[in-house]
Amino acid sequence: MAILKIYTFPDDVLTKKAAPIARVERELYGLADQMLETMYDAPGIGLAANQVGILQRILVLDTDYDLEEFEEGAEPPTVGEVVGKNIIKNRKPKIIINPEIILKEGKTAISEGCLSVPEFTAEVPRFEKLKLKYQDIDGVSKLLSADGLLAIAIQHEMDHLDGKLFIDRLSPLKKEKVRKLLREERVLRELQDAEGQPQSKKKRKKRDFNP
Ligand code: ZN
Repeated sequence: MAILKIYTFPDDVLTKKAAPIARVERELYGLADQMLETMYDAPGIGLAANQVGILQRILVLDTDYDLEEFEEGAEPPTVGEVVGKNIIKNRKPKIIINPEIILKEGKTAISEGCLSVPEFTAEVPRFEKLKLKYQDIDGVSKLLSADGLLAIAIQHEMDHLDGKLFIDRLSPLKKEKVRKLLREERVLRELQDAEGQPQSKKKRKKRDFNP
């Protein structure tokens, strides 16, 4: 199974609106599996297709799993599975196709991060609870009631499907400052990569909000 490339700001694909999936066909199994693997490898708690360069309305989530680091050369764990450098336990993946929020209420905000906006977090306004209509990987229509972290992650991922990043929800002034900063950081990262310097890769813990 392949780990997919995660596109990062300011890559263009992150600003595009993903198209509804007219027919949920078996090919989607492969994409959903690869998206989950990419998410657990990162590690993150959600991933939308735009983030891996695919403009279709599909996203994956798991806001409640246990993560341990897998030491290279170590014995494979007896519980859980190894994804990249992580051991994932108690995974409860959700695959959500053509999501549509049919009910929303309350207000909340937590410090959000994003796999497509590395090393940056900010609080943005979200609904506290929602009810979601979507199709599962077999094309069956489902309803899901969500609150807490799951509700916020769903809104964050659905923004991706609409070509929007969480930083787009900041005030106009702050947004411009942040975009400038992130562009500069990306140039720096690419320079370091080109020079072959090891990237400082902060290991994120599962509880970090990182879809
Ligand atoms: Zn994100």
